[in-house]
Amino acid sequence: MKCSLLIILFLINVNCSTRGMVYVCNSDTAKKYHYKSNCRGLGNCQYKIIQVSLDKAEKDGKTLCGWEK
Ligand SMILES: [Zn+2]
Repeated sequence: MKCSLLIILFLINVNCSTRGMVYVCNSDTAKKYHYKSNCRGLGNCQYKIIQVSLDKAEKDGKTLCGWEK
């Protein structure tokens, strides 16, 4: 986990214990969440990649990325 990179990306201090946190593409059409910020499934993201709690991702109707099963 590259925490320093995350801090640069989000310009906030992030909790480096990412248990329960997932990554999503901040787009209305994104339907997947990812455990890894460098997942190939996020490679197509044209928007900002954001970190959200797994609870929130599931609440938003997102499902686990097919590359990570
Ligand atoms: Zn993924």
